[in-house]
Amino acid sequence: MDDKTLIEEITRRVLAAVQEGASISQDPRIIPVGISVRHVHISAADLEVLYGPGHQLTPLRDLYQEGEFAAKERVALVGPKMRALEGVRILGPMRQRTQVEVSRTDAVYLGLNPPVRPSGNLEGSSPITLVGPKGTLTLPEGAIVANRHIHMNLADAQRFGVSDNDLVQVEVLGEKGLIFNNVQVRAKDSFRLEMHLDTDDANASGITTGAQARILGKQR
Ligand SMILES: [Zn+2]
Repeated sequence: MDDKTLIEEITRRVLAAVQEGASISQDPRIIPVGISVRHVHISAADLEVLYGPGHQLTPLRDLYQEGEFAAKERVALVGPKMRALEGVRILGPMRQRTQVEVSRTDAVYLGLNPPVRPSGNLEGSSPITLVGPKGTLTLPEGAIVANRHIHMNLADAQRFGVSDNDLVQVEVLGEKGLIFNNVQVRAKDSFRLEMHLDTDDANASGITTGAQARILGKQR
């Protein structure tokens, strides 16, 4: 290969690589992935038990979803094995009911067997104990393993050809890329496009926040 041919070949390969990179990032099917670490959503009454009368959440940083934030306040979670997960973040704003979201690995460590549920569906979920600086709270139910889901607005839903509560199959890209089943579509105009996986799913697929996913198709 002479110099001119070599340079042309290198140029061709560089251009191909650049175009491939550009087409991946511009692919309208790409959905950014956010990893949900174990956390707590809290009611006003329960926050008072843990942090004292009249206590309000102190925003620490905004989350990607509009209006949601990580609070400065944290709690310890305790289960029947008498082991604790400390420093578990409370997410705001406050909710009507307290909800504890853990991974299956967390649940095994605590000695719980929580069901996989969409957020807010707490009927028959696991009992759990929360410890704050001012008090302790034992809930008869409230701990779940959050289901896999994708937040999107209604325009995104139309673009993907899906509706609120559809279950879809989603491929997570990467060296240990995986196809996840039973991913719930959560379509609402205030949502920003983002797939939420827990730390077990994230670790299984070797990804961190900012990874990319794409919908392969509907499941029902
Ligand atoms: Zn979510």
